[in-house]
Amino acid sequence: MIQVMSTPELARARDSGALVADILASLRTRVEVGTNLLDIDAWTREAIVEAGAESCYVDYAPSFGRGPFGHYICTSVNDAVLHGLPHDYVVADGDLVSLDLAVSLGGVVADSAISFVVGAVRSPKDTAMIAITERALAAGIGAVRPGARVGDISYAIGSVLRGAGYRVNTEFGGHGVGTTMHQDPHVANDGRPGQGAKLQPGMLLALEPWVMADTSKLVTDADGWTLRSATGARTAHSEHTVAITQFGAEVLTALRA
Ligand code: MG
Ligand code: MG
Repeated sequence: MIQVMSTPELARARDSGALVADILASLRTRVEVGTNLLDIDAWTREAIVEAGAESCYVDYAPSFGRGPFGHYICTSVNDAVLHGLPHDYVVADGDLVSLDLAVSLGGVVADSAISFVVGAVRSPKDTAMIAITERALAAGIGAVRPGARVGDISYAIGSVLRGAGYRVNTEFGGHGVGTTMHQDPHVANDGRPGQGAKLQPGMLLALEPWVMADTSKLVTDADGWTLRSATGARTAHSEHTVAITQFGAEVLTALRA
């Protein structure tokens, strides 16, 4: 079932989105060479508690992970791309870090992810790959309008990723958001225009293009959660939660001035 937000729920979704944007922006400036992933997790927990929000991750136990996640943010480094379980690892110069955060504030969820290189950029391919996921995200957002189909978003995202030479994995992708984190519809990162559920005002969607440099195949880490590229290649991931309005898309997790 696809949830449609009421006007009061949409107001809460904006607050939730602003909180996620603020936390990620703050982490983006705090994470440096020498930061432990467990510090990132602790800082996130503090920010969530201080805001009176709830973590969507700590008790999360879906079929694709091993038991409750037990942490407050996903930290995926280098070849890790999704669901990175924070662990005792110190960020090194040139690491490509992806942070993915979902919280519930006032009972409504917002979900966003950013990728960035810490310290010196080792390869221009890293920044190009991050930029492609951001461009694909913008293209997906650009395809959002009432009456459009989920497949239009998937096609817009996939066209950018494929056009840049990446192989697209359609197993994990975007999703509906509402009073819980993962809802219908699934928004694959490639697809056919004109297909899938019709978009209507009040729906919330998390759009999240991600790529791995030379493969579309994932492997699951021994921790039971972290998904890595099968080849060990580096990866990138960008995500925003958008509300469908009568005019198009309102990006809820964009950083406000
Ligand atoms: Mg996310
Ligand atoms: Mg998501």
